[in-house]
This record gives sequence, structure tokens and C-alpha cells, in this order.
Amino acid sequence: MKVLVINSGSSSIKFQLFQMPEQKVLASGLVEKIGLPNGDIHYKTPEIQHSINLEIPDHTTGLKKVVELLLHPEIGVISHVNEIENIGHRVVHGGSNFVKTTIITQEVKDKIRELFSLAPLHNPPNYTGIEVAEEVFPHAKQIAVFDTSFHQTMPEVAHTYAIPLKFREMGIRVYGFHGISHQYVSGKALEFLNNPNAKIIVIHLGNGCSMTAVQNGESIDHSLGFGPNVGMIMGTRSGDIDQAVIFYLMEKMQMTSEEVTHLLTKQSGMLGLTGDSDLRQIEERASQGDVQAKLALNLSTYRIQKYIGAYTAVMNGLDAIVFTAGIGENSNVIRQMVCEEMDYFGIEIDEAKNAVRSSEIRDISAANTRTKVLVIPTNEELEIAKETYSILKNQEKVS
Ligand code: ADP
Repeated sequence: MKVLVINSGSSSIKFQLFQMPEQKVLASGLVEKIGLPNGDIHYKTPEIQHSINLEIPDHTTGLKKVVELLLHPEIGVISHVNEIENIGHRVVHGGSNFVKTTIITQEVKDKIRELFSLAPLHNPPNYTGIEVAEEVFPHAKQIAVFDTSFHQTMPEVAHTYAIPLKFREMGIRVYGFHGISHQYVSGKALEFLNNPNAKIIVIHLGNGCSMTAVQNGESIDHSLGFGPNVGMIMGTRSGDIDQAVIFYLMEKMQMTSEEVTHLLTKQSGMLGLTGDSDLRQIEERASQGDVQAKLALNLSTYRIQKYIGAYTAVMNGLDAIVFTAGIGENSNVIRQMVCEEMDYFGIEIDEAKNAVRSSEIRDISAANTRTKVLVIPTNEELEIAKETYSILKNQEKVS
């Protein structure tokens, strides 16, 4: 079965075509700068890499160009468009409606639309991706995989805010995000540990950052909330901040809510602390003694340590912490700092193992420590393909 995975953003479409269940990537790529005069399409197969620069006025044109490449007599990987029978879409917000991967019907689309107000930057382009795929692949089954679904197992104590019932009934609660990544990585971790009931903490550190407490394979607490600016210090987002700061800025500085939102989501975090949002530059500056860069590293790793403490408490134990995403997979500096003076939690890393660069799953804990420290590369596209494949296989079994 061929599964095409689509992640449609406001001006881009990321795609990967999988042969399932073999999990073989047949082709992948990115259409970017949709709507701008100088769009780009990057296309890759196991054999070739190919880029085209052209104007891509809208998502439909972008996806049609991708189909042309997939069908291309020399660099293509399919011979007819109907070979793609199944399409898995990443949808950021599923609210409380979608607790699992769902086959897309008109009713499902209507519900995704209703959730636009909860994820105004993400759900609209995700929805566009679905409509465009329906047009370009009219014979294919369309499946939605939600970034929030994995966190729907969180107990009431973890997802409820202490506000009056009227507001809770409006759907104001913790939803969480990055769920596709946390699901994939926690699944791999439990497999690696050979213990489906292990108590683990997944630390997803990319431009966006989040942590999830996972027990018996389920998310039981998570650092992102109603929106995506809570918890960790991120590339440009502040993470946890006293709400009094927001009202102070609005009242004393006459800032509008848009200005405060912009400040806390686009100009804060590592960028606000150092002027750089890319961790590689910050590490480089810190190694040369830059005081602001060192402070930023200290603040972000201190925050992660605090959440490790909190999640160990709510799980009443800890078997492993798992680092993933751009920073978690690549930065031995951040991993080292997070694991410093954490022996009370049974966390200690082996410096030599931590220094090894690899794209494999690895255990970097010191010998005989109580808590494993793992590095597991995330793969959201593969998780979407797996989810899409399994919902269709289950449907075949039922019918
Ligand atoms: P996104 O959330 O956009 O998917 P990624 O998961 O790709 O982000 O992570 C991007 C972050 O990873 C950037 O801050 C980048 O600096 C960091 N990163 C990537 N490679 C390295 C590396 N070798 N060392 C340190 N940080 C890295």
C-alpha cells in the first residue's frame, strides 16, 4: 500500500510517499514559498535530488507539480496517479473531538473548520491541504492524524485549568501539541526499553519545545497547553511566564494584545535572550564566553530540569528520559547540561557516548544508572504513515 503523507502549512507543503507496511520512503520533498513570485520545489528519491524554482500561486498548483514529479518518466516513482490510494494529513488541532486518527468525511472537515479559532495559524492551511488533496487525488482515502490526539489520554487533573465552570465548558483546557512526535518517540523508547509500562519523559527540543510524561504508553501530562507557548524556553517563544507580565505590558506600556503576543511568541525565548534563535550559534557564542548566550543555555536547561522533577513526581517514578528533535538529537551540550546534578533522579550520562554523533536510537546513560537517558530521532511523517496504514487495515478487517 502506498501512503502519501502531507503536512500543509500556510505557504508550504511537505510530503513523503511511503510503501507500507515496509516503511520504505519512495519519495519526499517540500513545496515552499507558495503565493510568492519565487517558489521552490525540492524533490528527493533514494536515487536523486531535484529542485525547481518557479512561481506557485496556490496549494493546488503546488500539489499538482508534486504529482508531475511523482509521475515523471525518469525521476518519478509511480506510473499512475491512482496508485496513491491513501493520504495521511497532519492536522494540528483536533480539540476534544478527535481522540484518534480519523478517516476524513464532510462531518470531520466541518469539525476541523470549527477548530480554526483554537489554532488559527495551523488548522486553516491543514484544511486547505485536505481540500487540495481531495481535488488532486479524487480516488484516494483521506485520513487526518492530529497533533493533539496523543494527549487526549491526559487525566482531568493534568488538563484542567482552575477557572470557573462556564469557561471550562467553552473548551478552555490543556490540549497539548507535538503529539505525533511524542507518540512516535515514546513508542520507540518503550520498544527499546522492552517495557511497555515504563515511566518515561519525552523531551522534544526543536524550534518549538515540549515535554510529555508517558506512563503505560499514554500521555499523562504535557508542557504545552491551550496554546503552544507554555513550558520550555523555545527558539522565539518565552514558554512559562507569569500572566501578570502580560497585563503589566498592556496597561503600563499601552501594548495591544497583538503586540504582546508578537513579543512573547516571536521575539522572546532564545532569540529574546541572545539575539539568535538558532542553538548552534548560541552554543558557539557561549563557548567563546558570551554572557547572554551562557545565560540562555542555563535558563533553558534549568526549565527542563524543573519539569523532569514535576513529571517524576506525578508518575511517582522514572525509568527513562528521552531527547528528540533538532536540539535533543544533536546538541550534546544541552543534553549534558540537563543531566548535570540529577543523580537524585538516577540520571547520569556517559560523556563519551553523549559526544557520539549518530542518527540511530542510542542509550547515553552511564553504566548502572537507575534511569536511562536515550536519544531517539523523531519521525512525524513515518508516524502519520503508520497511523494511516493501521486505520485502513483495521477498516479492511471490519468490512
Ligand atoms: P522545528 O521545530 O522547526 O521542526 P527542529 O526540530 O528542526 O525544529 O530543530 C531546530 C533546532 O535544532 C535549531 O535551534 C537548531 O539550531 C537545532 N540544531 C540542529 N542541529 C544542531 C546541532 N548539530 N547542534 C545544536 N543544535 C542543532
